[in-house]
Amino acid sequence: MPRTAIIGGGVTGLAAAYEFVCAGAEAVLIEAEPRLGGVIQTDVVEGCVIEGGPDSFLSAKPAGEELVRELGLGGELISSNDHQRVTYVVRHGRLVPLPDGLMMMVPTRVMPLVLSPLLGWGTKLRMGLEYFRRPRPARADRSVAEFIEDHYGREAVDYLAEPLLAGVYGGSPERLSVESVLARFVELERSYGSLTRGVLAARRAARARGTESAPLFRTLKGGLAQLTAELEKRIRPHCRVIHGRAERVERAGGRWAVSLGGETLDADNLLLACQAWQAGALLRSVDERLSAELEAIPYTSSVTLALGYRREDCGPVPPGFGFLVPARERKALVACTFVGAKFPHRVPDSHVVLRCFLGGAGGEAVLELSDEELIRQVRADLSRLLGWDADPRFTRLRRWRRAMAQYEVGHARRVAAIREMAARHPGLELAGNAYEGIGVPDCIRTGRAAARALAAGTASR
Ligand SMILES: Cc1cc2nc3c(=O)[nH]c(=O)nc-3n(C[C@H](O)[C@H](O)[C@H](O)COP(=O)(O)OP(=O)(O)OC[C@H]3O[C@@H](n4cnc5c(N)ncnc54)[C@H](O)[C@@H]3O)c2cc1C
Repeated sequence: MPRTAIIGGGVTGLAAAYEFVCAGAEAVLIEAEPRLGGVIQTDVVEGCVIEGGPDSFLSAKPAGEELVRELGLGGELISSNDHQRVTYVVRHGRLVPLPDGLMMMVPTRVMPLVLSPLLGWGTKLRMGLEYFRRPRPARADRSVAEFIEDHYGREAVDYLAEPLLAGVYGGSPERLSVESVLARFVELERSYGSLTRGVLAARRAARARGTESAPLFRTLKGGLAQLTAELEKRIRPHCRVIHGRAERVERAGGRWAVSLGGETLDADNLLLACQAWQAGALLRSVDERLSAELEAIPYTSSVTLALGYRREDCGPVPPGFGFLVPARERKALVACTFVGAKFPHRVPDSHVVLRCFLGGAGGEAVLELSDEELIRQVRADLSRLLGWDADPRFTRLRRWRRAMAQYEVGHARRVAAIREMAARHPGLELAGNAYEGIGVPDCIRTGRAAARALAAGTASR
């Protein structure tokens, strides 16, 4: 039976290892940190579930929920409280709700847009007229900023696209690829011309299929670490787990040799489930061009900071999921989630938890600040935006260095080249958030597909 070395014990590597275990194939999981799970990290403090990394996954991507159910955790699944789904955007220092009916940056209802103080009259008029655009022939990849500005104008980039993408990708719309990040909108532009008309048509089709009311996000009651802990439990008896940093990989006699901590581990197959820049560094002596392409995928770094309060100590929480701070209005905070409002069961009634997101493209200097200074800056923002000056009862801070891959313009072409080069090395697979999707379900899907392909002796695509 061939043996596979998996490098990286985040959710991608864990899902891959689980797939090997299910197939009865031999795998060794190598993880640099003393714990498995990668950026998925959950703490429970005073009964509050605090996510240090991702807090949920998109329900529209089935690989997450499928795995959760397969592991017998279906009873732990919870959905976002979509009936309270108001998100605010900061404009002139005030929280302004995103107009009702907005699908990312695409307006689908007239009156809420007309009445919203978030955008000026010029932008509103332009958004209305966009409805009449004709389909356009396919075009080369562009930045998200160029695409959205073309449809709705600059203000829609600054007050919708930028804060939304900074909150999800830690990325800048000037650099992110519309083909990779908003593929569905590119498709709608091609078919309908107008994004608004396209989204309305897609919504009608979803209504006819009865899928329109699916919740936006799903997660686990006790946090996403329930998923990684269960995966770990399932693989431990069958799969060797080594906690150590893989330093180099080499190809010798048709096999892979992984060096770590003075030891060399031999394997028939190699599954790189680590960050692309790590995969690139590891493959330097195997394939220089492949290594360079992997290392060229940019990453951004970020910080999450949760602040927990007794409800009676803090000010009123605006109804909704939280708020986004556009770059034009930003000091430290990029986004803030009102955890107890977004998900049921996560925060007892006695408490309020704000989960703050900082850093990302253009804001990575915050990673070098001390914990005290970071907390001070976030509290200054909360005081300015929410009028809250109370001392939090607890804080939890996580720094994520070079953790979020950036799908910049040309990303799809680069990934196709990477896949082609990797296919020339028998027994090599790459999976994770750097390639065809950044979210947890994408990582699970690519990790499992890569493992299935290696176990079957075929290529994953
Ligand atoms: C702050 C934050 C919030 C997010 N929020 C969401 C969200 O709400 N929903 C969502 O769907 N997605 C979210 N994401 C994205 C998603 O969480 C990640 O894309 C996904 O979890 C990445 O999993 P992974 O296993 O590919 O990588 P990682 O979790 O980064 O794991 C890679 C692992 O490889 C190990 N490694 C690297 N190099 C080596 C080496 N040489 N030897 C041994 N081990 C090595 C690392 O130590 C690490 O543990 C978020 C990401 C971040 C950072």
